[in-house]
Amino acid sequence: MKISILGAGLIGVASAYYLWRDGHEVELIDALPEAAGVTSYANAGLIAASRALPWPNPAVRGTLMQAARGRGGALRVERWFDPPLWRWGREFLRYCNAAEFARLSAAKLGFARFCQHELEATLAATGVTCDYRRDGLLYPFQSAATAEAARARAATVAAHGCELRLLSRDEAIALEGALAASPIIGASYAATDAQGDSRAFTRALARWLAARDERALRLRFGERVEASIERGRLAIRANGAPLSADAFVVALGPATPAFAHGIGRRVPIYPVQGHSLTVPLRDAARAPTRGGICEDSLVAWCPLGEGANAVMRLTTGAVFRGQQNAFGDADFAHHREHFERLFPGALDWPHAGVERWACQRPMTPSSLPILQRDPQHERLYWNCGQGHIGWTMCCGSGRIVADLIGGRTPSFPLADMQRL
Ligand SMILES: Cc1cc2nc3c(=O)[nH]c(=O)nc-3n(C[C@H](O)[C@H](O)[C@H](O)COP(=O)(O)OP(=O)(O)OC[C@H]3O[C@@H](n4cnc5c(N)ncnc54)[C@H](O)[C@@H]3O)c2cc1C
Repeated sequence: MKISILGAGLIGVASAYYLWRDGHEVELIDALPEAAGVTSYANAGLIAASRALPWPNPAVRGTLMQAARGRGGALRVERWFDPPLWRWGREFLRYCNAAEFARLSAAKLGFARFCQHELEATLAATGVTCDYRRDGLLYPFQSAATAEAARARAATVAAHGCELRLLSRDEAIALEGALAASPIIGASYAATDAQGDSRAFTRALARWLAARDERALRLRFGERVEASIERGRLAIRANGAPLSADAFVVALGPATPAFAHGIGRRVPIYPVQGHSLTVPLRDAARAPTRGGICEDSLVAWCPLGEGANAVMRLTTGAVFRGQQNAFGDADFAHHREHFERLFPGALDWPHAGVERWACQRPMTPSSLPILQRDPQHERLYWNCGQGHIGWTMCCGSGRIVADLIGGRTPSFPLADMQRL
C-alpha cells in the first residue's frame, strides 16, 4: 500500500518505521524543513514508564483550585475563557474518580512498558543512536509531603507491575553523588526507566529510512497539509495539491485538532505548554549522571551529550494558554532556582549556548493516546495525543497504527485508549 504520514515528529517517524517494516511505500510530510522541529525538539528526554500515570485523578480538583488562585506551582491556567478548554475540561473531570484512575493507570502503565520495549527493539534493529541509556531515573524529594506522595506513587505503580524503589537520603547519594550538596531527604528510583535524545532519535530514524535501498522513505518537508470534505469525500492536500494514498496517518501532535477541524471532526486534544532549557555544564562533578525529576518542583533533568558537548536538558511547566506558544523570561525562573538547590554549581547558566524552548504537549482528557481508524473515513488513521509521554510511547504507538492498517489484531489492547 502507499501510505502518507502527516507530521514528522516522534510519532510520525516511528509510524513510518513500522509501516516501512510491513512492506508499504511510505511518505512523510511536514510543514517544517526538518523532522522533530516542534514538540519532539527539546523535551525532557525521559523514557519514564514509572511516570505514566494519568493526569486525571481523584485529588486533581484540589490542584486545579490552587492553580485557579495562582498557587498551582508548575501548573498554571492562564486562559480560562476558552471554549475548547471547557469541553476538554468537562471530559477530563469525568475521569477524576478512583475507578477511572485505576482503569486508566493500568492501561497507561502497561502501554508505556510495551512502548519502551518497542523503542529498544527499534534501536537494536536499526542501529540508530540517540544517547539512549537504561540505567534508571531518580526522583528525589525534600519534604515529608512529597515523600508521602512518592510512597503513594510507588504503591500505585507497583500494583501494575512497575517497581519504584524508595531510597533513604544516603542511598540516593550513593547512586547520585552530586546530590550530597542538596537538601533532599530521600528519593524514589525506577531501575528500568531510561533516557535519550528524542530529537536525535527522530532525525536519525527518518534519515535511516530515507537511505534504504528498498522502498526508501520519501521525505516531503516544507509542505503544509490540510483536510476538507469535497463532494462528500475526504480530500487531503499538501501545499494546496491533492494527495493520493491508500491510507493517511495523522501524527500532527498539538496541531491535530486544527487539521481535524477541516473535516468537521473534533479531536479531544488540548495543547499544554511546557518550557525547556538546554544548558552546558560548568562542573561535571557537581552534575547528575542520570535523568530524574524533582518531586517538589517537578523540574525534570536529563544529561545529554559528552565531553565538550555535554549539556543538561531541564524542563518544567504545564501551562494552559490555548494555542499561544510564546514564552518569556518568567517561564524559565523555576528551572534554575530548583535545579541549583539540588546540584549547585553544576551548570554554566550565562553560557551563550543556553537554549530556551517552549512546546505544547498534545494532551487528551484521559491522558491516553488516540490510536484508531477514523469512524467515517476508512483511509484515515489517527496516531496522536501521546501528551506528556510521547517519547516513551512513540514506537509502541507506531506499531499499533501499523497493526491497524495491516488488518492485524493490535499488539496491545486498545479498549482503554482515548476515543474520538
Ligand atoms: C516540556 C515537555 C517535556 C516533555 N518531556 C517528555 C519526556 O521526558 N518523556 C516523554 O516521553 N515525553 C515527553 N514530552 C512529550 C513529547 O515530547 C510529546 O508527546 C511528543 O513530542 C509528541 O510528538 P508528536 O510527533 O505527536 O508531535 P510533534 O513533535 O509536535 O510533531 C508534529 C509534527 O507535525 C507537523 N505539523 C503540524 N501541523 C502541520 C500541518 N498542518 N502540515 C504539515 N505538518 C504539520 C509539525 O511541524 C511537527 O513536526 C514532553 C513534552 C513537553 C512539552
